[in-house]
Amino acid sequence: MGDLEGASLADWPISYDDLEPYYDKVEWAFGVSGQAGANKHESRRSRGYPCPPMPQSRYAQKFHQGCQELGWNSFPTPQAALSRPYDGRPATVISAFAQQHGDPTGTRSSALNVFVPQAVATGRYDLRADCYVREITLDERGRAKGAVYEDADGDLIEQQADVVVLACGAIETARLLLLSKSARFPDGLANGSDLVGRNVTFHEYSAAVGTFDDPIYAWAGGGYVSASSFEFYESDDSRGFVGGGHIAAAGVGIPLPINWTLPDRPSWGAGAKQVDREHFNHSMAAAMVVHDMPQHDNRVELDDTVVDAWGLPVARITLTPHENDLRMGKFLIDRNAEILEAAGAKTVQKVYIDRITGNCSHQHGTTRMGNDPATSVLDRNCRAHEVDNLFVVDGSPFPTGTGANPTLTIMANAWRVAEHIAAGRH
Ligand SMILES: Cc1cc2nc3c(=O)[nH]c(=O)nc-3n(C[C@H](O)[C@H](O)[C@H](O)COP(=O)(O)OP(=O)(O)OC[C@H]3O[C@@H](n4cnc5c(N)ncnc54)[C@H](O)[C@@H]3O)c2cc1C
Repeated sequence: MGDLEGASLADWPISYDDLEPYYDKVEWAFGVSGQAGANKHESRRSRGYPCPPMPQSRYAQKFHQGCQELGWNSFPTPQAALSRPYDGRPATVISAFAQQHGDPTGTRSSALNVFVPQAVATGRYDLRADCYVREITLDERGRAKGAVYEDADGDLIEQQADVVVLACGAIETARLLLLSKSARFPDGLANGSDLVGRNVTFHEYSAAVGTFDDPIYAWAGGGYVSASSFEFYESDDSRGFVGGGHIAAAGVGIPLPINWTLPDRPSWGAGAKQVDREHFNHSMAAAMVVHDMPQHDNRVELDDTVVDAWGLPVARITLTPHENDLRMGKFLIDRNAEILEAAGAKTVQKVYIDRITGNCSHQHGTTRMGNDPATSVLDRNCRAHEVDNLFVVDGSPFPTGTGANPTLTIMANAWRVAEHIAAGRH
């Protein structure tokens, strides 16, 4: 992509070919429902998906209809859900109760339903619930010695380990490293580069919202049954910004939380209720993920004054969108609005990202991986340059956030790093 003024772009030290075998492993171990080849922009795959796509909801069908009218490619979003029984597990129950409120039927393809039971069954996995890690300790050689955690009874325990792997999410991983100060690392563990916590990206997520005469029931289907397009993922200089992101039909939240940010909705009172009534059954969102640019000063730090329930400084997040993010977000939301209009929406409102900035469900970048210890925290195998038995496997190693939802890449990369650790190559 090249440089962009004000951004701290960095190349990934690994390629798609390094990750592709692990995308495949995760998808087949996990049970992902999708349709290979339906996304005409998709990257090389070594094989198809283990399960056919999830049934398409009413809002997914509207999204496809709008894209088709406009001549844009769309496809059923590959999802961590089972469209059929798979590997001893039942098909995923499609339920409004499973929309961002946990998984009451236990039928999603989550780590909790798949990998944790498998790990427990080996007898070699000791899951300690309700334990809160306060610090990673060091031995006299400067290697990670273990983790100090507080258990549910409030007892402090130091668990020693040959290898320490952090996967707390990009905010909390950075925070834990910054909390782990020592004489050797006075500014936080593995933070000689002063990059721990920096370059955080969050994929500002927003949408155009349309209402239709016919009911959409977007609250009923869960995020499982959606449709996407990568038509605007690749960079195109003629658009006035670099990069791009994926767009998708969305019916998430009860009612759609995005409706609460609509420009025409009063914040409270009868007017707000009226908008909610009109939207509840009849609205859908066409949403987008901004491939936001990393910036040196967008960062996670320890707060000076606020502490959590354990008395430790909370994470303080500083985030200013890059001008490129705002332009990209506007462009993608304008395209989303066109999709809704082409699908026959009677009203369409656009929620540009300056109205919603600060959503942080997709976290990346706070311990970026790279080949140069001066410009990265981790090496290409996600091992800290400065602590050779310390690894990070959540979204923190991502040098850039990409323009697509991150979890499959987090999992594929974690599997890659796990094989590296298990092979004793560290
Ligand atoms: C509302 C919402 C919707 C999302 N939708 C999508 C989607 O559609 N697609 C997608 O790809 N991604 C989605 N994501 C993002 C996805 O949830 C994350 O990418 C994914 O969970 C990251 O996995 P992880 O294991 O790295 O981190 P997490 O799932 O955040 O797990 C980190 C764990 O570490 C624990 N932890 C943190 N600090 C400590 C500590 N000090 N001591 C002990 N434990 C600690 C936390 O309690 C947590 O259990 C969504 C996120 C949200 C919030």
